[in-house]
Amino acid sequence: TTQQRVVLVTGANKGIGRGVAEQLAALGMTVLIGARDPQRGEEAAKALRAAGGDAHAVTLDVTDLATVREAAKQVEERFGHLDVLINNAGITGSGQVSPADAHDQIPSSVELDMVRAVFETNVFGVIAVTNAMLPLLRRSPAPRVVNVSSHAASLTLTSDPDGPFAALLPSAAYSPSKSALTALTVQYAKELRKDGVLVNAAAPGYVDTDSNNHTGFLTVAQGAAVVVRLATLGTDGPTAGFFGESGPVPW
Ligand code: NDP
Repeated sequence: TTQQRVVLVTGANKGIGRGVAEQLAALGMTVLIGARDPQRGEEAAKALRAAGGDAHAVTLDVTDLATVREAAKQVEERFGHLDVLINNAGITGSGQVSPADAHDQIPSSVELDMVRAVFETNVFGVIAVTNAMLPLLRRSPAPRVVNVSSHAASLTLTSDPDGPFAALLPSAAYSPSKSALTALTVQYAKELRKDGVLVNAAAPGYVDTDSNNHTGFLTVAQGAAVVVRLATLGTDGPTAGFFGESGPVPW
């Protein structure tokens, strides 16, 4: 018998994470909707079940180690293993503001507490969740980890004065946090390569969600596509990579 594939998506109650959860459920996977608010998580899981998916809410605040450990315990008790972890939960630090208007990210005047909060969620939270779930991932025949990063993480793209992000304000919080996330992706991939765990970073593109006050021009389904592709890689798939919908993103 083939074992049911189980995937955990953090921050899956809305936005790109929810779109990823929908697409993976449609592929027949058992989807665990990670959400820091239990009610928002249950609502999203319920909607997915109504659409025919196998979805379950799991309470998980990536900045709260007690909920991370409890989530891992629940996954272990209920499913005994995990096949795919999608580290999607993230914050910009600027609330629902388009990156072109995020004046509070400007390096020379940024609030250090805001930078700390962004790194706590986007970077340290990923380490906490990944390390809690790795023992369960190691029980999978084909474990995959996808870290949802951003084109704004790319040092190549952001350092180019004539590049695609020339019009965006400089950012001392969000962009560096995502650069750290892609750096971390490479280090996890390096450690786990021998164990067959494929670890990659995804850049969804500029997606219409609450995080940018719906100024993004891609739909959630379009943004989710590259994440889904990396979540469902075959055994010959890449690891330590950084990909957008149209291919590799430069570091
Ligand atoms: P949304 O704000 O729509 O969704 C973010 C999700 O993350 C929500 O479910 C939110 O939960 C959750 N979340 C935030 N903090 C925590 C936490 N501490 N613990 C658990 N969950 C948390 O944003 P997007 O869908 O746009 O963003 C998803 C990911 O995609 C992020 O990592 C973001 O940086 C990345 N991204 C987005 C882009 C875009 O254009 N939209 C572009 C590039 C990358 P809650 O509902 O409780 O707030």
